[in-house]
Amino acid sequence: MTVVVGASASGLTAAIVAARRGEKIVVLEAGGKAARKIYASGNGRCNIGNSAISLERYHSRDMEVLAKILASCDRAQLRSYLNSLGIVTQEEAEGKLFPMSRQASSVVEALLFEAARAGVEILYRRKVVDIEKGAGGRYILHCESGERFEAPRLLLCSGSPAAPGLGGDSGILAIVGERFGHEVLKPLPSLSALRSASRYCRMASGVKLPAKVTLLCDSLVETERRGDILFTDYGISGLAILDISRSLSLAMEEGRSCSLKIDLLPDYERQKLESILLKRIERERGMPLSLWLNSILHSRLVPVIMAEAGVKLESEAQLKRRDIARIVYAVKNLSLPIEGTRAFKYAETACGGVSLREIDPRNMESRLSAGLFFAGEILDVDGDRGGFNLHFAWCSGIRAGMGISRPS
Ligand SMILES: Cc1cc2nc3c(=O)[nH]c(=O)nc-3n(C[C@H](O)[C@H](O)[C@H](O)COP(=O)(O)OP(=O)(O)OC[C@H]3O[C@@H](n4cnc5c(N)ncnc54)[C@H](O)[C@@H]3O)c2cc1C
Repeated sequence: MTVVVGASASGLTAAIVAARRGEKIVVLEAGGKAARKIYASGNGRCNIGNSAISLERYHSRDMEVLAKILASCDRAQLRSYLNSLGIVTQEEAEGKLFPMSRQASSVVEALLFEAARAGVEILYRRKVVDIEKGAGGRYILHCESGERFEAPRLLLCSGSPAAPGLGGDSGILAIVGERFGHEVLKPLPSLSALRSASRYCRMASGVKLPAKVTLLCDSLVETERRGDILFTDYGISGLAILDISRSLSLAMEEGRSCSLKIDLLPDYERQKLESILLKRIERERGMPLSLWLNSILHSRLVPVIMAEAGVKLESEAQLKRRDIARIVYAVKNLSLPIEGTRAFKYAETACGGVSLREIDPRNMESRLSAGLFFAGEILDVDGDRGGFNLHFAWCSGIRAGMGISRPS
């Protein structure tokens, strides 16, 4: 018998693959239901993968090992695995793959049906709180319920601490480090919105627009992204923000001070914007300044830009050329100090985890403790937004499923 900890994307996949090969599998799941993150994924639509998988879309300290894991599961293999569950995918923009139903629940139902058909036993409300290695190298698992399970092979698919409301937990990571000597890279929130105390966020709360965002750490450009941003009461969110949150987490961990520079009209060069505004002064004499900018910027952003530019005039008739230059500068360089991410509570994933250095990429087995296997987000692998994280969960789950079912 093999015990798998965690009934979600990677754990259920590994359990199905191994059970189909004749292995007796028991899955221990802390929650009262399986795959809570899959239900929530892609806003309930489940961005199940991506048609353009490449190493550049992933992050890990050990990219060579990661390359081997990803190479072991190509697009055709993954499609055949998903098809074998009855899941048909369709591609949307940026190569994002979704189940045809666009319902995450259909993915979970297919996984659970196939797991049951293959004979996998899933035990819910079995939170593993300790693991020891007993006589003969067998793994002994202690559950919060007081129960104890024993098996010669153990696969850990307990994910990361991201989204604790959906099963995110770091307990197993701590056990793996303390009991089995694995190196664990400190998990940090990734794919998260950001907190800012700037009054601009509250002034513009609810405004969503396409922008270019530059992350500055200790005043140096760290990274930049184009995409939607959303001002909120707590700070700033939106796809471009989620994309840079990983870099921000790492920079803040190093004690660097971070801020954002936002270009609210990235499709307009500075000179072009200045000339548009100068022409408007000639055409629309006497208009109140707020109204004058309203058709160019969202009305809730106008007071933000005026404050940032330090322009306090009543009407556009009073505007000087240098005021226009200051307004345009503020539009293209809105500055927001950032306090941090919204922490694990609101993060979609985590960077860090069990180091790949001590994992055999052929079967996902520990190089330090025979019979111990890993798959999914518990490992030091995180992907970009767009289906890359679930892709890694399926891929590493398939690999580990084959690993635990090899003849011993
Ligand atoms: C809101 C949200 C939206 C997302 N959307 C997408 C998306 O659209 N596309 C995409 O690619 N990725 C998405 N992700 C990320 C993706 O869901 C994860 O990368 C993926 O679920 C990881 O799978 P996993 O099986 O490794 O871990 P998890 O899904 O985290 O599952 C781990 C399981 O282990 C259980 N567990 C934890 N500790 C213990 C313990 N001590 N004992 C027993 N059981 C335990 C947990 O309850 C959980 O069921 C999203 C994540 C979130 C939070």
